Amino acid sequence: MSITHAREPRDFVRTLSKGYATLILAILGLSPSFAIAYLYFFQDPGLRFEHHTFHEIAIGVSVLQSGFISYVTWRCYLHSGEAFLRWLTLAFLGFTLIYGLHGAFTGSAHDHVWLFILYGPASRLTMATCLLAALMTYKRQVIAIGKRSHGSYWLFWISVFMLINVFVFFLADSAWASWARMVMEIAALCISLICVVIIIARRIRSPLMTIYALSLLFFAQSSLSFILSHIWNHQWWLAHVIFASGFMALSYGVIQAFLTTRSFSKVYSQTELMDQIKSEKARAEDALLELQRAHKDLENLAAIDPLTGAANRREFLARSAEEISRAVRSGAPLAMLMADLDHFKHINDNYGHQAGDKVLEVFVATAKEALRPSDFIGRLGGEEFALLLPDATCETAGIVAERLRSMVESKIVTVGSARLRFTVSFGAAQYGPDGTTYESVIEVADSRMYRAKREGRNRVVVQ
Ligand code: GH3
Ligand code: MG
Ligand code: MG
Repeated sequence: MSITHAREPRDFVRTLSKGYATLILAILGLSPSFAIAYLYFFQDPGLRFEHHTFHEIAIGVSVLQSGFISYVTWRCYLHSGEAFLRWLTLAFLGFTLIYGLHGAFTGSAHDHVWLFILYGPASRLTMATCLLAALMTYKRQVIAIGKRSHGSYWLFWISVFMLINVFVFFLADSAWASWARMVMEIAALCISLICVVIIIARRIRSPLMTIYALSLLFFAQSSLSFILSHIWNHQWWLAHVIFASGFMALSYGVIQAFLTTRSFSKVYSQTELMDQIKSEKARAEDALLELQRAHKDLENLAAIDPLTGAANRREFLARSAEEISRAVRSGAPLAMLMADLDHFKHINDNYGHQAGDKVLEVFVATAKEALRPSDFIGRLGGEEFALLLPDATCETAGIVAERLRSMVESKIVTVGSARLRFTVSFGAAQYGPDGTTYESVIEVADSRMYRAKREGRNRVVVQ
């Protein structure tokens, strides 16, 4: 009762916690919009902070940073071969090569404003497009090791980015420059949002991809901020800050990947890790049980004579040693019987080897019937058996052997159409009176058994 009561609120709190975490992520992801709205509604849009050197330094730092992150992403790609990481490298590389010109043309902000401005949206659009392409290949494509470091691939894309730079250069000089800025910014915004939607729709929840989604949400909002801004005003600077924040979050993800698995799809959340540990533990426990079972089977196989099911010589010896030390400790008597099937060779010769086998099986089955559960039978060789009788004197062993002898005598073994009988000779000995080691006791029992043979077989000799 108390267990079910304790469980319900815990599950409820768990659901609530998950909802809370999602809400916090959403609020965090959309936080730039509060700043954007604040500036849009409450700040004088005419306020400007035109500082070329500051802009140049900021862009310089960004370019160095994105160059470094391109390199780290590329190293991750070389290691894991994820097509996702190849596109991510291109996203950072494209951004580095195009955005650098935005900083380089800061000086032309007065004379040639579009030359200064257009490289911004062009770099963001290029980056968003590559991020979308990356997402489309996420967990879907791995590049073979031999193909990962093809220089021609990277040269091709560097040329593409250079061509974009040339294209933007001419675009800036055309009548469509202002229009192009809006189109590129809106396109970057839409693509970034599409990426976020894809991540949510595909239920991609790994920690690194959560960072990826957050960064894209920031990129979308930075484009929104750029669309609402005028050059050098606070909204315009805010747009830079939002983009830089998204960029830094994404670069943090890349560094995490680099420092761990060098893969974006194989960095697990704590929950996933816990689940994985649990299932691995269960698997290890299953395997251990299986191993123990197999070990037990092997032990049995090694201890048992496969034809009759009696213990083999080794096992009989081990068990005898145990029983001897038990008898020494407790002072209880311990007897042994040697049993040898009579004229067994004749059975084989007259009825065939299979009949002989059947007789051996019948003898052991009969012995098990006649013995107590604590008694023990072993096959020492061919048609020679030994029986261990704890708590029995030589006299008792003689009575047991006599009972078994007469049971065997009356058995009829059917093999095909043949019906045959067989007999057994026994010799008994007792630990203590007849010897104080396994070997000496069994030797005495053996010599008595041979006396039984000599005296006419199918009999028991106890002294
Ligand atoms: P005795 O009454 O003096 O014991 O004569 P015996 O024929 O039983 O004894 P002997 O030692 O001459 O022959 C034992 C035979 O048991 C010889 C051997 O081929 C046979 N034998 C040994 N192991 C097996 C077995 O696993 N299956 C069968 N069918 N025969 C076996
Ligand atoms: Mg024999
Ligand atoms: Mg024999």
